[in-house]
Amino acid sequence: MKIICIGRNYSAHISELNNEKPLEPVVFLKPDTAILLKKQAFFIPDFSKDVHYEVEVLVKINRVGKYIEEQYAHKYYNEIGLGIDFTARDLQQKLKDKGLPWEKAKGFDGSAVIGEKWINKNSFNSLNNINFSLLKNNETVQSCNTSAMLWKIDELISYVSQFFTLKIGDIIFTGTPEGVGKVEANDVLTGFIEEKQLFSIQVK
Ligand code: ZN
Repeated sequence: MKIICIGRNYSAHISELNNEKPLEPVVFLKPDTAILLKKQAFFIPDFSKDVHYEVEVLVKINRVGKYIEEQYAHKYYNEIGLGIDFTARDLQQKLKDKGLPWEKAKGFDGSAVIGEKWINKNSFNSLNNINFSLLKNNETVQSCNTSAMLWKIDELISYVSQFFTLKIGDIIFTGTPEGVGKVEANDVLTGFIEEKQLFSIQVK
């Protein structure tokens, strides 16, 4: 399986990192080795002094497809989840400054938290009106609604499937809203969609 991540999909987050608003979605991949194994703590890697959490709504692909038209995109997923795109921000900044790929800053071991619980998409009235949040040590640090996405889920599926064939089990990270920040050892990160807790991660 592969993990397809979208960058700069919420305008308030684009401003907080002083990035330009993109004309098309920013897309990058994480290898399957980036997945944080179930019940494991997240260990801050030695190569970074500034690892950030980024909470993101996830979509799990359940059908093979390429060149998917937006109007049919809904047929390619049933479940919505929540995860964290851990980012070594200091390393990412260095790579960005040099125009180099981000993989080392975004795809390292443990950098993809995928909440173990998933929610059937039919249980939402609208996928464009999902509240989600991240708590750090029981304090809300990120809180947003999918209505603030620049590109909606079906648009993202249509867009990325022009470049990458989507396969069963692939996961799309749909981008983070504002409020990203640094993690420290002993932090506990808890993710919610509406009132439902989808993951809880210990940082070490
Ligand atoms: Zn992200």
